Amino acid sequence: MARGLNAAGIGMTSPRTRARMVARLREKGIRDERVLAALAAVPRHQFVEEALASRAYEDSALPIGFAQTISQPYVVARMIELLLEENTPRNVLEVGTGCGYQAAVLAAIFPEVYSIERIQGLLERARRNLLGLRLANLRLVHGDGYAGLEQAAPFHSIIVAAAAPRVPEALVRQLAAGGRMILPLSAANGGQRLVLIERNGRGFRESELDPVRFVPMEAGKA
Ligand code: SAH
Repeated sequence: MARGLNAAGIGMTSPRTRARMVARLREKGIRDERVLAALAAVPRHQFVEEALASRAYEDSALPIGFAQTISQPYVVARMIELLLEENTPRNVLEVGTGCGYQAAVLAAIFPEVYSIERIQGLLERARRNLLGLRLANLRLVHGDGYAGLEQAAPFHSIIVAAAAPRVPEALVRQLAAGGRMILPLSAANGGQRLVLIERNGRGFRESELDPVRFVPMEAGKA
């Protein structure tokens, strides 16, 4: 594979480097073995520009073009761990495909993955990044995540990679009974928090979790 070759030459993109990243995630408190195995399997350096490949296994967000970023590995792991708690993975909807990294991690865990991206150019880039991984259970869709994905709903799990000011209503409607949604919400003071929404027989339970920093969720396709 041509991408990341230079960095591979100095050992910065090897499976061993990735294994060290996973060991650090474990130290930071990620416990779910399904999540750790998926992060150990997906070559994150193939989702960033060649010039950044040597930094792909640092635990940080990196630019991916179109003023967007690839999510920090710890945050990807933490959010998926929260989705899976006490749960067997079923179908999942991701809002904000970006470069496709988290979509690939999800596809290593969930039997059925849908991912929506509003920026066409980014979705094409994600398709290219994902090509070699041959993930037959992953569907990428160009669309506005504020509308969710009616044709594939309901979803047992929903994960949002961009911060909205409030929970998008369509996503709440498309959450299956017994399902979970994890998303960053932005507050008026500019801060953001992860919010977990659980749908049970009678209604919804909402819990506020860690402070985070995501790009804003924007309306409409681009
Ligand atoms: N999941 C990515 C992170 C992407 S950053 C990863 O693995 O690293 C968040 C993405 O959400 C951006 O690509 C942005 O364009 C997208 N986004 C923002 N608002 C959106 C919306 N309403 N619908 C779909 N995607 C949206």
